[in-house]
Amino acid sequence: MSVLDDFDVVIGLEIHAELKTRTKVFCSCKNEFGDEPNTNTCPVCTGMPGALPVLNKHAVELAIKAGLSFGCAISPYSVFERKNYFYPDLAKAYQISQLVYPLNVGGQIVLDSGKVVRLNRIHLEEDAGKLTHIGRGVGTLVDYNRGGTPLIEMVTEPDISSADEAVEFLKKVRETLVFEDIANCKMEEGGMRCDVNLSLKRKGSNEFGTRTEMKNLNSFKSVQRAIQFEAERQAEVLSAGGAVVQETRKWDDDRGESFSMRSKEQAQDYRYFPDPDLLPIKITPQDVERIRGTMVMVPSERRKRYVEEFGLPEYDAQILTSSKYISDYFENCVKNFNSPKKISNWIMVDLMKLVKGQEEFVFPIDEKSLASIIKMVEEKVINKTVGLQLLDKCIETGKDPQVLAKEMNLLVTISDEQILELLRKLKIENAKVAQDYSNSPEKVVGFIVGYVMKNTGGKANSTRVRELISQVF
Ligand code: ADP
Ligand code: MG
Ligand code: ZN
Repeated sequence: MSVLDDFDVVIGLEIHAELKTRTKVFCSCKNEFGDEPNTNTCPVCTGMPGALPVLNKHAVELAIKAGLSFGCAISPYSVFERKNYFYPDLAKAYQISQLVYPLNVGGQIVLDSGKVVRLNRIHLEEDAGKLTHIGRGVGTLVDYNRGGTPLIEMVTEPDISSADEAVEFLKKVRETLVFEDIANCKMEEGGMRCDVNLSLKRKGSNEFGTRTEMKNLNSFKSVQRAIQFEAERQAEVLSAGGAVVQETRKWDDDRGESFSMRSKEQAQDYRYFPDPDLLPIKITPQDVERIRGTMVMVPSERRKRYVEEFGLPEYDAQILTSSKYISDYFENCVKNFNSPKKISNWIMVDLMKLVKGQEEFVFPIDEKSLASIIKMVEEKVINKTVGLQLLDKCIETGKDPQVLAKEMNLLVTISDEQILELLRKLKIENAKVAQDYSNSPEKVVGFIVGYVMKNTGGKANSTRVRELISQVF
């Protein structure tokens, strides 16, 4: 029994993600987290009178990429509007956003259960500055570095029914945005944050209940907890015969509860109107196709291909698609040597070890060289231990592995043809061996291998000799 038994939970999310541009969306200030406060600012992003915005094309392209990733329709015509409110983090006293004509319309994300969560829109806007409250009666610090950072806001339809679904949805959003290099979504830096709108519906009823909104949740954990808390709180209110008040609530992660910030009556009237300083964005079908051409496949599609086409275990596919970099690296190796599982093993075990603990890494060897080493091991020209030595040496010197292997005298210089030659010679010279082999091969294999080793000065690869015997005898 739970207070929630009589109700269905109804959730709609609004997600903000900071776009990975070099500069801000309406000026040329650096878009960089963690710099000295108020150093990445200019008259435009600090709202000086007369300063005029200029639209960052890259921000528009990234926002369109997000739209294409989630199946939105890209608007041929979209409009920036001013959202007016007065608050210290907003130097201009209005935020440039989109309302009536957003850049991306519709779209959807499918959860693992097969459930479809519809998107209402993904629009482009700017972030506000950051306030740091240093204590009651002491004051508040403001940093405008973040002001004017490009943001996308994704708004879902109220299709989400549980905390688990909300978190799965957010993870899918983050995965795609990171993979396509649209946003880095570092939640701990505020790079991705989420507002949760939540109401309850009596089981069997078609009528939506009154919703509340919890703003700026910045971890999956707090989304999970905030939803659980708020659903139970509303259920208790309704079960006791009360009514849910439409309001904005603030989630307090330390106390594990939310409290009212402002009710609908105190809600702001933002007095939106089209920004006269910015032209509408016009996007042609050619623009859309050009941008689509720069996109990579969504990770889930790559994973599917790795499992179905390359025969990799789900676990490998998961790790190899954890970033676009690793995934591209893996695919380039496979292009050089078509042995996906072996390559996967080397990457997951031997290469990952070399970059352990690094957040944004580059493997210290190029794909072609790694593939070449793996090929030598798989073709038994060298064994795995020697292969790993070769890998180290390759990283150290940057030389071609084939050249290095020769220099280091690692190569077994006896070719298959030379081995076969010796085997044929033995068969002719020693009829008894051939006879014995056809009766019980296991009894003479040792002898045959010994013969080849003796006649090659021990330079033949004994495993390879064993494999080749049956071709002659
Ligand atoms: P607003 O403009 O007041 O923010 P919207 O209609 O744009 O309202 O909705 C904002 C978010 O609230 C959307 O994600 C939407 O899915 C969600 N939402 C709307 N109605 C409900 C409801 N009854 N219960 C839960 N979420 C809702
Ligand atoms: Mg809203
Ligand atoms: Zn600026």
